[in-house]
Amino acid sequence: MKDVILDVSDLAFSFKIYGGEVQAVRGVDFKIEKGETLGIVGESGSGKSVTAKTIVGLNAIGTSGYLKSGSILFDGKDLTKLSKKEMSQVRAKDIRMIFQDPMTSLNPTMKVGRQIQEGLIKAGYPKDKAKTASIEMLRKVRLPNPEKRYNQYPHEFSGGMRQRAMIALAMAVNPKILIADEPTTALDVTTQAQILDLMKDIQKEFDATIIMITHDLGVVAGMAKNIAVMYAGKIVEYGYVDDIFEKPAHPYTWGLLKSVPDLEKSHKEPLSSIMGSPPDLFSPPKGCGFADRCEYAMKICHMEYPETTLLKNGHKVSCFLQNPNAMSVVNPITGLEVKHG
Ligand code: SF4
Repeated sequence: MKDVILDVSDLAFSFKIYGGEVQAVRGVDFKIEKGETLGIVGESGSGKSVTAKTIVGLNAIGTSGYLKSGSILFDGKDLTKLSKKEMSQVRAKDIRMIFQDPMTSLNPTMKVGRQIQEGLIKAGYPKDKAKTASIEMLRKVRLPNPEKRYNQYPHEFSGGMRQRAMIALAMAVNPKILIADEPTTALDVTTQAQILDLMKDIQKEFDATIIMITHDLGVVAGMAKNIAVMYAGKIVEYGYVDDIFEKPAHPYTWGLLKSVPDLEKSHKEPLSSIMGSPPDLFSPPKGCGFADRCEYAMKICHMEYPETTLLKNGHKVSCFLQNPNAMSVVNPITGLEVKHG
């Protein structure tokens, strides 16, 4: 592996609730190289956003959440060991996070340009150059007439423009990592495509490392180098984007891929969906979290959690179908029989 910028190991995060705990993230491991985009994909409640917020230390703020185990190595430091003040500095400069709702990041009572300027100054940028740099950043995110936009409030922007402003706010300080949590989910399809294009360009220009969190595999298809598929608080499959799309190995990933609209298919063919719902993480299943929804589930799937099998190219999957004693199954995406790993 080249320069690893973030190394997450055995991360587990829970929320205390009346009578017990919700085990939102249950032992997650991944590494990201500098300049890479990692897509973390899964449905609501899979633990992907909790993982991201744990990395930037936002889960522990004002919640009943607590870190159960794990380390997050960034730049030679374990982020789980930093004080609140040190983590606030990491969020101001090194690891920036953007959200589905730009108003989570933008202050509605402050002019947009001023917010970018303040972020720059907080990150140590010279005061006398911060205004020019803020306008330049608004130009880089392709907001028309950036000098005028600098003096406007967030409510004067459209949804797509607010998303651009939020990206400008996050990228102005040239962070080492940008975490984007469902940044295009609330946008119409055209604006979504424009924002994804912008993010690709921004990544090239800043040589940024990006973690893109989404429920939609289509969003990360043209952007990510690697994809981690999360389900019930665990990464169930991980690999290069091409391997995940062309040779997916986990039945949950098969289901996700089958539910992506295909423009080449007849409009009369119904979209398939994954029946059922994810398990309650208040009392997570002992075995595979997907077992109740999986058409290939075997007895063992309900009793034990499958080990991770390493396939080719660093492609990993946690599924009993890889076991030599498993029944023979045809992968619905490749049409080929699943080879036991
Ligand atoms: Fe399905 Fe069993 Fe594989 Fe889980 S381990 S995805 S239940 S076959």
